[in-house]
Amino acid sequence: MTTTRDIPAAAAFADEAKQSPARVLDQAGNGLADSASNNPVPAPAGARTNLFDLDRVSLEDFFEQTLGEKRYRAHQVMKWIHHRHVTQFDDMTDLGKALRAKLERHAEVRAPMVLLDKPSADGTHKWLLGMDPRNAIEAVFIPDKGRGTLCVSSQVGCALNCQFCSTATQGFNRNLTTAEVIGQVWVAARHLGNVPHLQRKLTNVVMMGMGEPLMNFDNVVRAMSIMRDDLGYGLANKRVTLSTAGMVPMIDRLGEESDVSLAVSLHAANDELRSELVPLNRKYPIAELMAACQRYVQRKPRSSITFEYTLMKGVNDQPAHARQLARLMRQFDNAVQMKDAAKVNLIPFNPFPGTRFERSPESDIRAFQKLLLDAQVLTMVRRTRGDDIDAACGQLKGQVMDRTRRQAEFRNKLAAQGIDPDGAGRDAAA
Ligand code: SAH
Repeated sequence: MTTTRDIPAAAAFADEAKQSPARVLDQAGNGLADSASNNPVPAPAGARTNLFDLDRVSLEDFFEQTLGEKRYRAHQVMKWIHHRHVTQFDDMTDLGKALRAKLERHAEVRAPMVLLDKPSADGTHKWLLGMDPRNAIEAVFIPDKGRGTLCVSSQVGCALNCQFCSTATQGFNRNLTTAEVIGQVWVAARHLGNVPHLQRKLTNVVMMGMGEPLMNFDNVVRAMSIMRDDLGYGLANKRVTLSTAGMVPMIDRLGEESDVSLAVSLHAANDELRSELVPLNRKYPIAELMAACQRYVQRKPRSSITFEYTLMKGVNDQPAHARQLARLMRQFDNAVQMKDAAKVNLIPFNPFPGTRFERSPESDIRAFQKLLLDAQVLTMVRRTRGDDIDAACGQLKGQVMDRTRRQAEFRNKLAAQGIDPDGAGRDAAA
């Protein structure tokens, strides 16, 4: 059986080095390990720019300012990269030889390294992707009737400490670059043979993997712009969803700079309980969060917000909790004067080793949903997919060289419970 811990990113990078030294020298040589830069053109003097870091406008600027070429050349290159999954400039046959040579000198197209590639029995597919020799993250593709959703990570680990999320137990290392965020989409699109507008397999992206996307604002917004660009993945705004634990000031910035669907991880409709489950609530309590959500909805064009609510047995799944949630949601609709401005997505808790929480019984999940529906609140239950490969919400764990103390603390806690900490991240069906 293979575990993510059996394949540390460093070993896989070393294996790759044996097979293809040039590629790994590039990877090692660019000092990926400690880069938390938000700069769209991050190449230090002499280094090559990874074109995955650039959205349409910054790539046009790169062609004009760095290469001294016409801006429209950027469009050809974007299509090669994102539509045809070509990463070698020599294969970009509609570019002249001189331009290809110039690109070779100044640029590269470097995708994340696939360390593990795991299909699930229900069609879900999970990738463990090496981001640098010491860190890896996960991305998950979930096919469903007529749609294919990719769940994308935004950080290596997570700095927030939501009590019921397994990513939190791994602590935090760094933000992902734009290249590393869009690289996840690229890996999945290549695997699926996705061609925007012709053979579309990838129809939705949700920023619901590892990390808090609004704590990596610039890189995530730039990556989402490539997802929505016709020269990128051509997804409609409403098919790109950003999920946040409630970074209030950044919700306002997102409203100013981008136009994507917003999902908010609520999990409790009163401050006492929410502060316990989502510690960020102590900084941005429910009233402030709902006010920011109202401002987001009231932009033009108006759009609804999905409130995620993970149901944990005996914690937040009782009828009184449902009534409190229904009240909050109705108040929201009234405040923005829009029917179904607030939608609720109930997520049955997905367990992981060492957690103190349990999934609510099916009967309680149904009763909770019915109470909300009876109160005229649009409410769905998100059915768990890919749990045989630990690919469900809140189960994503990469390999995080933690810069906080959280991973060590959690491992000590597991050991005290007699659970093998190195078995805790075990992938079930390698
Ligand atoms: N940081 C972002 C995105 C990451 S998680 C956020 O908080 O929204 C995506 C969703 O899965 C969130 O709603 C999160 O609260 C939920 N989640 C986390 N752990 C879970 C678990 N163990 N079971 C079910 N849902 C979980």
